[in-house]
Amino acid sequence: MPDGFAGGNMGQDYEIDQMISAKAIAARIEALAREIELRFAGTDKLVVVGLLRGSFVFIADLVRELDLPVEVDFLEASSYGDAMESSREVRILKDLRGEIGGRDVLVVEDIVDTGFTLHHVLGLLGSRAPKRLETIALLDKPSRREVDIKATWTGFEIPDAFVVGYGIDYGQRNRNLPFIGQVRLTQ
Ligand code: 5GP
Ligand code: MG
Ligand code: MG
Repeated sequence: MPDGFAGGNMGQDYEIDQMISAKAIAARIEALAREIELRFAGTDKLVVVGLLRGSFVFIADLVRELDLPVEVDFLEASSYGDAMESSREVRILKDLRGEIGGRDVLVVEDIVDTGFTLHHVLGLLGSRAPKRLETIALLDKPSRREVDIKATWTGFEIPDAFVVGYGIDYGQRNRNLPFIGQVRLTQ
């Protein structure tokens, strides 16, 4: 498994330093899955909603750990675009395919940063009257928060760094790295 990466993208040269190993991610997901199973014990159906595109690897690993009857749906909200800064203006680019009224719902997010995305998505989905609405974020950057919101479950708290890998991109690249790494711009 590579533990580093060097390349050029977005007109920048950069290197990626490993921050969270694939092994650590897998172990954390196992533990989180047990907590989610307890919270939703007895559900007839859990709708697991992945926020595209950054959560696609996380949701794939998470649902395979869950011993619950699950359905999978996706929602796409605009966020960073291809930049490294949040736009603070959230738009829904792709809505759910299914109804969630009266359903148990788990929203799966890659990173909670300023909090605008999760706040907006929870407002939208909450207005559809789910039976229960919980959230899980693989990563949380509490020092960056501008909206007072926290996921029900968090994989890892990380410092204010720009990260990639495990589904998360920099200019659409590096989603396929098996670990979470920190982008370090070089010349
Ligand atoms: P928020 O609305 O909380 O500021 O931002 C949430 C979204 O911004 C995340 O779901 C993620 O898509 C993106 N984001 C936040 N931090 C990072 C980061 O370090 N790297 C990348 N690639 N995207 C990030
Ligand atoms: Mg995201
Ligand atoms: Mg992105």
